[in-house]
Amino acid sequence: MPLVRARRETELGTEVQCSRCHEFWPEDQEFYFMQDGKAHTWCKACYRSDPKVVDKVERWKEKQRKNPAPPRRKQPLWSGTSSVFQPAIEVEEEEQVEP
Ligand SMILES: [Zn+2]
Repeated sequence: MPLVRARRETELGTEVQCSRCHEFWPEDQEFYFMQDGKAHTWCKACYRSDPKVVDKVERWKEKQRKNPAPPRRKQPLWSGTSSVFQPAIEVEEEEQVEP
């Protein structure tokens, strides 16, 4: 059975209630992680303060430190002005999104 979120209309827009801290927060990605246009049941602050989530984020950070993304090549490997070589295609790094 889907949980009916407590929500309220304010002059600034719709606010939904966090199921953890029971505070009302605006229903947008500033305050909630959004999925399929819907806010998660917990506000971001609650996610961030949850030991399990903190642990997960810490592990992710640790992994990032061990496997850092290769630095972008700023300079071509060759020198000179030969036009024989094509410059390496730079791959845009994707922004890492928080869990
Ligand atoms: Zn909360």
